[in-house]
Amino acid sequence: MVRRLSGAQGRIDGVGPSMADRTPVSGERGGNMLFKCRWCLKEEDVPVTQEQYDSWSAGRTSGGAYIQDALPFLTPEQRELILTQTCGRCFDETFGDPDDADV
Ligand SMILES: [Zn+2]
Repeated sequence: MVRRLSGAQGRIDGVGPSMADRTPVSGERGGNMLFKCRWCLKEEDVPVTQEQYDSWSAGRTSGGAYIQDALPFLTPEQRELILTQTCGRCFDETFGDPDDADV
């Protein structure tokens, strides 16, 4: 004697996937930004947050905020990378060493 519980399997309402189950886009906001050197295309980590960068950037377009004032904790190489997309090594190669000019 086999009885089938055919009527017992209905739809289960209210347990389906909910729309609220969205995982946020994960970007590691550790406080570093990547800047790419336009010469060697190498990306370097600069310890500056997006907020710090934005506030400097905003001040810069309105004529103020030198980068060394806004971001004094960066090394000169890091500032150069942000300003001109030139890493320390390429900066040296591009602008050379004055001592090299052997006239
Ligand atoms: Zn470079």
